[in-house]
Amino acid sequence: MNVRYYGAMTVGVRTGWVAAVVMLALAVLGASSAQASAGRSLTVCILPAKPNESPATLFRTPDRFDCITPQEQFGRGDFWALSQTLPADLARVPGIAARVASMWQNRVTLNVLYADGAIRQTGFTSHTAGRYLKLGATLSLTLPPHAAPPVRLLWHVEGAANLRGVVMGVTLATPAEAAARETLLAGLYASFGGMAIALIVYNLALWGALRQAFQPVYCLLVLCLLGYAVSSSAALGQLVPALDNNDRLRINIVLLSASAIMVLVFARSFFERPVFDGWLRPASTAAVATLATTGIAFAILAPWHIDVLDRLLALSYIPLIALVPPILYRAWRHRSNYLWMFALAWGTPIVFAGMRVASALGLMSWSFWLDNSTVVSMMLEALLSSLAIAYRIRLLSVERDEAREQEIAARLLADTDPLTGLLNRRAFLSRAIGRPGDQLLLIADIDHFKTVNDTIGHDGGDEVLRVVARALRNAVPNDALIARIGGEEFAIIANTDALLSPDAILAALRRQRMPFDIAVTASIGGCTGPLLRETDWKTLYRSADRALFAAKAAGRDRWREAGMPPFADILPFAA
Ligand code: GH3
Ligand code: MG
Ligand code: MG
Repeated sequence: MNVRYYGAMTVGVRTGWVAAVVMLALAVLGASSAQASAGRSLTVCILPAKPNESPATLFRTPDRFDCITPQEQFGRGDFWALSQTLPADLARVPGIAARVASMWQNRVTLNVLYADGAIRQTGFTSHTAGRYLKLGATLSLTLPPHAAPPVRLLWHVEGAANLRGVVMGVTLATPAEAAARETLLAGLYASFGGMAIALIVYNLALWGALRQAFQPVYCLLVLCLLGYAVSSSAALGQLVPALDNNDRLRINIVLLSASAIMVLVFARSFFERPVFDGWLRPASTAAVATLATTGIAFAILAPWHIDVLDRLLALSYIPLIALVPPILYRAWRHRSNYLWMFALAWGTPIVFAGMRVASALGLMSWSFWLDNSTVVSMMLEALLSSLAIAYRIRLLSVERDEAREQEIAARLLADTDPLTGLLNRRAFLSRAIGRPGDQLLLIADIDHFKTVNDTIGHDGGDEVLRVVARALRNAVPNDALIARIGGEEFAIIANTDALLSPDAILAALRRQRMPFDIAVTASIGGCTGPLLRETDWKTLYRSADRALFAAKAAGRDRWREAGMPPFADILPFAA
């Protein structure tokens, strides 16, 4: 069927658009990954630590460090990480800081070698890391001031889980660069946070009005994402400096898993029930259980077998991602109205989740932006969700307008006489009774209509009724009510001061061209009086009917007013 084909086509066109949005987002991220962290990047070389090694000796033997093997291949343990020689121009800037990405580690000691040969130390443990945490989960250590400029850095990292590396994303940043980065990220997270809060508020408000089951689930999902953004950005560490940085990572993992779980729960409440019928429902339940198990296992058990836990965690996202195509396909097969909205809202986060898994499995290289991709993609998601919900509201408003039009049409149908399009008796009475002030009622009855039917047939008679109705409508003022109240009997109600002349009506009827050019006339009975109640109507009608009878008796094609002398033909009726 045409409609179906069209439906499938629009979905196709729209998912194409979604793909374009995702590509654009990736392109933006790709472009910005060049400036991954604030300041100038430093290369570092790694040496697994052995007991009784001193920084002084290690600074003197840089050749012992491995600059080629990817860091994560060393596995977990204690390490030394030696930087390249620091750029001389930067090294002279007061307050310069060495920044590294926050990782799972117990203690980091930074040894700074100065031009005069002095070595000074600074550092943190996972307990004190909160004081050095910057937004974007970067740990920043200001180099201790010294008379000579710093020339080289040597980190001693103890208890490194080394899941992605030992010392990653190393940069040397001036206070100005660090402040600029902090401002940029504060803006990024604040805009995400604001949008998330707005989404929660207006979805809850809409839930009150629309009662869509997915809305509270969606709010919960956004809340999880907001929590994840706060913990992963390290804002949580800044807010609670006493929080152990490794515990912050546990919270972060749990919130990410919870967000992923909520995505599936959301999909289940968002799509129509049949979309998840069959194997998809138990499969999605299993995927949720897997995500919950690995997330909780990591949070509780790490650092015990942290590499295994981390890999399991990464793998647990695969069922989620694998379920997306069948869910979308099923939704498409069921012609779900919500498919494109879902694809639109979740395309980017799902692509990023895939990229994170790829990165965790070593298929893609680590980048600062990939690490923060969740927040960026959630921002896009929040923005697109707003559009999706706006679209949903549009659908509702279209539905409402259609319903209103149908209701108006139905009411019109119920109020009108189908043959002439005039008001029917019921609608006429309901509008007429209650009109304030004296009202003029005219009853017009076609003369010898039986003969008309006999002469030109019933269909011809119908056409005569239509022509008469049209003539009457044209002859009465706009605010007058006019109805067909019987077979060939019409009623008109107007204010007494209205320009309504029975003579004019009769003349208009005489002028009308009738089917087969037959001559058709009518007689009119009129009466004036109040019309506030049903009883007023009965009184008025009885009098007008009597006047009509008088007009018929007087020879037809004329009018009579109640109370008029029976032979007075030419009294002015109304102004
Ligand atoms: P009078 O001048 O005394 O009013 O004569 P009359 O023939 O018009 O009066 P009567 O009330 O006896 O006849 C009305 C006729 O109108 C009878 C009926 O067949 C016809 N009629 C009623 N409703 C319709 C209709 O919807 N269409 C047609 N074609 N005829 C109708
Ligand atoms: Mg008649
Ligand atoms: Mg009649």
